[in-house]
Amino acid sequence: MQHSVQHILQELEGLYTRQEISVLTRLILEEVCDNKINHLSGSGLRKAEDIAFRLKSGEPIQYILGKTEFYGMPFMVTPDVLIPRPETEELVEWILAGNRQPGFSVLDIGTGSGCIAVTLAKKIHGANVYAWDISERALKVASENAFLNCVNVRFSLRDIFQPVDNSPIFDVIVSNPPYVTESEKTTMEANVLGFEPHGALFVPDDHALIFYERIVDVALTSLYNGGELYFEINRDKGTEVCDMLRSKGFTHIELRKDISGNDRMVRAIKPDDHG
Ligand code: GLN
Repeated sequence: MQHSVQHILQELEGLYTRQEISVLTRLILEEVCDNKINHLSGSGLRKAEDIAFRLKSGEPIQYILGKTEFYGMPFMVTPDVLIPRPETEELVEWILAGNRQPGFSVLDIGTGSGCIAVTLAKKIHGANVYAWDISERALKVASENAFLNCVNVRFSLRDIFQPVDNSPIFDVIVSNPPYVTESEKTTMEANVLGFEPHGALFVPDDHALIFYERIVDVALTSLYNGGELYFEINRDKGTEVCDMLRSKGFTHIELRKDISGNDRMVRAIKPDDHG
C-alpha cells in the first residue's frame, strides 16, 4: 500500500522535494490506512487520490487533513487560521525559558489557531492564559484546540484597535501579528498566498508596524511594571521594531534570530515608570 500511495504522489514531483514527498506519503498513509491492520482499501486509495489532487492545486497538507502539530502537541487548523510555523515554536520556547511563578498571567494578542496560548497553558503549571482575536471563526478553532489539549484559556473576541476596557494586568504579553508587507506578496509561496487568511498575514507597506505600535500602547497599560512583551517579527523589521520599543520607553530590548538565521523575535521589558 505504501507503494500505491507513493505512486499517486509521484505526480507531485516538481511541486515538492523528494523529502517533502516522503513526509507527505507518511501523513497520507496515517490518514487513509486502517492502522491496526495497515490495510489500504479501495476507499482509502480514493481518499489518497483526492488528497494528492488537492496537494497538486497547492493546498497545504495541514488544511487538507485539518490538523497539524505545534510544539509536539496536536492542533486542528482550518483556512480561518494561519498554519502554525516552526519560528513561532521558537518564540514559545523563549517565553517558557523564563522562571514563572504560580499565578503567572499571559495574554496572546491575535491568537489565531491558539497555538501560542494553548502551548503556554499546557506547559506553565497554574498559568492564567488569556487570548484575543478579532475573528470569531479563529476563536472557534482556538477554543477547540484548548479542548483538544485539555487546557483552560480565556478567549475573547476583541479588536485591538478599539479601546481596551476591563482588561486584567498581565506578566507577559505575546503577539505574532500580521507582518508581511503587501510588496512581499510577490515573493511568497503560492500555497501561502492562495490558501492562508490574508487578514492574518498582510500589512500596508507604508505602515508595516501598525499592529506592533498599537500592541505596545496596549502593553503600556496592560502589563505590570517589569512585565515582558514578546513579538514575532518580519525579518526585515528588527531594527525598526526595537527602535519603536525604545521610543515608547521599553528597556532590555533583545532581538533574536530564528533557526534559519533571520531576525525573528523581540523581547522587551515595560519600565517601572513610563511617565
Ligand atoms: N511567518 C508567516 C509567513 O511567513 C507570517 C506570519 C505573520 O504575518 N504573523 O507566512
